[in-house]
Amino acid sequence: MNLLDNDIKFIPGVGEARAKLLAKEIGVHTMRDMLYHFPFRYIDRSKVYPIGSLNEANTSSGYIQIRGKITGKNFFGEGRRRRFVLYLSDGTGKAELIWFQGIKWVENKFELGREYIVFGRPSFYHSELSIVHPEIESVEAALARKERGGLQGIYPSTEKLGSALGSKGLYNIISKIWERIRGTITDYMPQYLRERYGLIPLEEALFNIHFPQSPTQLKQAQYRLKFDELFGIQLNIQSLRSARTTAKAGFYFARVGQFFNAFYNTRLPFPLTGAQKKVIKQIRTDTVSGYQMNRLLQGDVGSGKTVVALISMILAVDNGFQACMMAPTEILARQHYATIVKMVGDIGLRLACLTGTTKTKERREILAALAAGEIDILVGTHALLEERVQFANLGFVVIDEQHRFGVEQRARLWTKNNNPPHILVMTATPIPRTLAMTIYGDLDVSVIDELPPGRKPIKTVHYYDSARLRLFGFMRDQIAKGRQIYIVYPLIKESEKADYANLEEGFAAIVQDFPLPQYRVSACHGKMKPEDKEESMRQFKSGEADILVATSVIEVGVDVPNASVMVIESAERFGLAQLHQLRGRVGRGSDQSYCILMSGEELSKESRTRLEAMCQTSDGFQLAELDLKLRGAGDINGTQQSGEAINFKIANLAQDNQILQVAQQAAIALLTADPALADERHIALRELKARYSTNKDIDFSKIS
Ligand code: ADP
Ligand code: MG
Repeated sequence: MNLLDNDIKFIPGVGEARAKLLAKEIGVHTMRDMLYHFPFRYIDRSKVYPIGSLNEANTSSGYIQIRGKITGKNFFGEGRRRRFVLYLSDGTGKAELIWFQGIKWVENKFELGREYIVFGRPSFYHSELSIVHPEIESVEAALARKERGGLQGIYPSTEKLGSALGSKGLYNIISKIWERIRGTITDYMPQYLRERYGLIPLEEALFNIHFPQSPTQLKQAQYRLKFDELFGIQLNIQSLRSARTTAKAGFYFARVGQFFNAFYNTRLPFPLTGAQKKVIKQIRTDTVSGYQMNRLLQGDVGSGKTVVALISMILAVDNGFQACMMAPTEILARQHYATIVKMVGDIGLRLACLTGTTKTKERREILAALAAGEIDILVGTHALLEERVQFANLGFVVIDEQHRFGVEQRARLWTKNNNPPHILVMTATPIPRTLAMTIYGDLDVSVIDELPPGRKPIKTVHYYDSARLRLFGFMRDQIAKGRQIYIVYPLIKESEKADYANLEEGFAAIVQDFPLPQYRVSACHGKMKPEDKEESMRQFKSGEADILVATSVIEVGVDVPNASVMVIESAERFGLAQLHQLRGRVGRGSDQSYCILMSGEELSKESRTRLEAMCQTSDGFQLAELDLKLRGAGDINGTQQSGEAINFKIANLAQDNQILQVAQQAAIALLTADPALADERHIALRELKARYSTNKDIDFSKIS
């Protein structure tokens, strides 16, 4: 066993309790995990600022260090609100140091009149400087302690971990680890590759990322570790890709036959757009290439991806194959099924729909027919992935709204025939180029960049909650014109309960207090039984309900052309991509559509930027690029860990495009020379590859 695999609890100063906390809060179990928990920013601890020189503007980037004498102390508040304040003065100004926790411990620890070095995140109230829970240390101690020179890392943490350990505590643990492991880390990257790509040795990089002596050292360390991360991912993606393109196992769809002609000539309700034709052509080319197709179809909401998928599936049927289409939710699957049934009419295709709630008897019939080759096109949910779903001859798979499915789930569909079927993945989440390269690197990409004719651009406005009466007036006018309205509430995992409370309150308010109570309102959210959800959706679709109050479950794919108003409550809590998706629910008919973003008065700079961007543009790709930038540059305090997800620890997709390009080329070159990584010099790289295995899902919560 590698030394680094040792449990973190054995490090002096950690122990059982803190080890548990580290595991729970930041997913750190072993010494290696801890080493790979990198600082997200660095500060120069050699700088001490005069208090009088600091203000809100020049400290907005984070932490500061000051030095001064304690001039007084005081207690305020009672019980949980109790706080302890130390007053610090350096001759140029005064600062308040505030503790809400651990008061017992600090109150007698610091002496009046003595000089201290104080470090922390400043805030200003009426231009008075204060620091909550600072690091504080006597000047003598600071001098005596031979602090490692250079830059000090600030570690991502969580609220709970922060109050038990703090960034300083993490720093200490990592220092202790290094005392044990110095000189033991072997580099999986062979020297010739390090030289070729200008990479410093792994141990040096891992050490310097925590304790850089200079900005140059830090840059080299960051470059090496970012490279490794992106290279590791690319090794997986590129080997999948070459496996696929060398297998020569793709089904031939050479024939344009009976069903295609019947559909195209007698059923297609509108002329295809140029973009739709272009994509169909690409798919046709792929399906006679001899390779298995693996194509990502990006198209903004409402761009008409469904009909492209349908035509592709019909082509498969014409060539003697079955096709299936998988949607992320029950509602969507049923809607796709209904759309397809209606579109193909009576040209003779045999269709079925299979979801988690399909009744046992019906399921049995469907499964039998499917295995016997008596169903041509099967639409469904995750239920299609189950073992018992066996096709006679599956040739084409459509996956709608990809980001709900992991790479591994996609791969499971491949095994439903001896040779893998062609795969078309459709998504309305515009994925920026860098990201597409990283995550979908094994897919070819098609884009529908043209909306069907006659769509009016959606008008988007941002209202503060105080303008609610105006909103109600507007809704009334729209309903009077015969339109229907969505009202969407945020649903974010961590605060699920509170969100449902919001939704329920909002629902009650609409039902009871909405100025004209004769409106018919239905509700739809994840906690409802599938039947109830479906009934709500049915009421809204049929026009029996004027208003649909929902959580973001309606985000994907719901198609109600008469709905022309989308009201998004607490819009500041949604990501840009999600807001754009929701907005795409309206603007499907010929009427002018509106998207109204409601928010509180207090908005962070980032939220404001997001809402402004929504009002200014309806270009999904532009919004996606901006989103990536905002998130990339955003606050990383509080790391998200989701067990199965690839978590970028250091690479930043918004900024590291260059490194990504190099890493991708490097992976391609290496795999071309040595596909199995069998060369003695490459065997250790298998470890890196395994760490970024694409069997893991990508954590899209960070991205879309
Ligand atoms: P999405 O890409 O969001 O899945 P859909 O496939 O649901 O979009 O299409 C949105 C709407 O546009 C549907 O009502 C569909 O019938 C209609 N539509 C699709 N293609 C065309 C076209 N070429 N001309 C007119 N309407 C179209
Ligand atoms: Mg769709």
